[in-house]
Amino acid sequence: MIEEYAEMLKQVGHRKSTYQDIFKRLRRKKGKKLDALFQEAHDEVFAEIDCMSCANCCTDLGPRINSADITRLSKDLSIKDTHFKHQYLRKDEDGDFVFKDMPCPFLHADNVCFVYEKRPRACREYPHSDESPIRLQRMEKDLDICPAIGAILQLVDSKLDQ
Ligand code: SF4
Ligand code: SF4
Repeated sequence: MIEEYAEMLKQVGHRKSTYQDIFKRLRRKKGKKLDALFQEAHDEVFAEIDCMSCANCCTDLGPRINSADITRLSKDLSIKDTHFKHQYLRKDEDGDFVFKDMPCPFLHADNVCFVYEKRPRACREYPHSDESPIRLQRMEKDLDICPAIGAILQLVDSKLDQ
């Protein structure tokens, strides 16, 4: 991760209680207006953030992998589902498939995702900041993983009462 994004995460860490207060405030405002603000802020922030200069979610977090992901990825790699599961996956404490080892086995040293076009659904949706309805709890738990979340949150908060 480049220094700029590490610094963004550090700043969020220093002001964690401020961000928690913003999340509390937003929970009281759920609805279409809030979803639209998140969509707008998501687009604005990700127009600036370069995920290939970060890759923190691919390094530290890792996605849940569903059965459609397994079928699609196995086919792409020309191996059987069972082989894919055996080679790359384990079950977590909730019984969901996740990668055995992190960083993700498909992350190359230059932060290129080797299976980008076929990547798991959870990778496509991360960090869930443009979902409707927005699920604030999901983002809150990853405040210190994804540098985009703090930036999106600040933007949404600044426009909330306009
Ligand atoms: S599959 Fe690709 S996008 Fe998903 S965690 Fe691995 S490297 Fe990242
Ligand atoms: S989604 Fe967030 S954590 Fe993942 S690479 Fe992009 S900025 Fe980094």
